[in-house]
Amino acid sequence: MRRINLKKVNVARADTIRYINRQVVLNYVREKEPISRAEISQETALQRSTISLIVDELKTRGLIYEIEGESTGGRPPALLRLRASGSMAIGVDIGTAQTTMAVADLVGRVVDREIFDTDPDVMATFRRVTAGVQRFIRTHKNIEGIGVSVPGLVDPETGTALFIPHFKWRNWALTADLRKVVEVPVIVDNDANAAALAELWLGRPEIRDVRDFVLVLVEEGLGAGIIFDGQVYQGVAGAAGEFGHMTIGKGAPVACAAGSEECWEAFASERATLARYKQRRAGSVDSEITFRELIDNAFGDDSDARDAILETAHYLGLGISNLTKALSPEAVILAGDIARAWPLIAGELRSTLAANTICSGLPLAPVFASTLGEDTRLLGALSLVLARKFASALPA
Ligand SMILES: [Zn+2]
Repeated sequence: MRRINLKKVNVARADTIRYINRQVVLNYVREKEPISRAEISQETALQRSTISLIVDELKTRGLIYEIEGESTGGRPPALLRLRASGSMAIGVDIGTAQTTMAVADLVGRVVDREIFDTDPDVMATFRRVTAGVQRFIRTHKNIEGIGVSVPGLVDPETGTALFIPHFKWRNWALTADLRKVVEVPVIVDNDANAAALAELWLGRPEIRDVRDFVLVLVEEGLGAGIIFDGQVYQGVAGAAGEFGHMTIGKGAPVACAAGSEECWEAFASERATLARYKQRRAGSVDSEITFRELIDNAFGDDSDARDAILETAHYLGLGISNLTKALSPEAVILAGDIARAWPLIAGELRSTLAANTICSGLPLAPVFASTLGEDTRLLGALSLVLARKFASALPA
């Protein structure tokens, strides 16, 4: 039987707490700057001494700086600000349709951007990415790292994209290949993991203090990113979070990326919703639309679009109820273009979730729609760099 090395676990645990506390302080400074140490201490459970220690660490590394606040009689308070201009990151979101590359500062403000159609030929896409990255590095100073988000399975140790179903790309040594042409650190991860990190670093305030949550990314396929203790839970070979392939039922409107008609992805992805819409509009000339158009139509007076997306909401609720039973997260976030349809689908999704969670007697996890919009995956790619930087702000 495999035994757990408790010594190692305890060390990891202490590092994790350090990392999380750093993240909490930095997020407060990022969102509420200028802010004093006392205000952070009032709003968090952290001790003043812990906050001062973290602030000193972050100042030493040039991540934050102090300004003098307004005096209310006594000594003016020292207020903290994020030194955003000092560090930049490159984010590369390799999507199934388009690849978006950008340079941003530490608070996710994009200063340069490039978009191109992703070429099904992996080498052609790689050449475009390389050229873009080289241009960014020539044009912008202080690039700390490159984060790459890909729509498939990634080995977190090596940064190799093991399988990207849409293009059938296998074993693409993305990190190693990029490191041959640039000297900046490269971090590659799956798009849902990256998007989950983006929620943690740049997302809505409700998530800021949540340490355990699941992000469900609905796209052509369906993926999930699990944040456990403020960090991405990778599992063996980065294969955790493949909820898109959990069995939901029979007779889905499409097959999943692996060819099964029983997987969650086959019931709740964009492809599934579009296929349902087509079935409803059989014979009609305007049934060939994009997912975004379908959402627009659903908000309009197209009842077929609305019904198709409500059925998807039902299956999203079913799947989320299953993953809630497995992981009991503090929250679930729904991301992808479907987040735009939230006012239409929230009711159906939540009632299905409630009806299917009842038998377990578990608390219902709140479900939110992502607020990061179209740039979720790009911000995810950037967050890969931010998270790495802040995690290693100072040697533990
Ligand atoms: Zn499947």
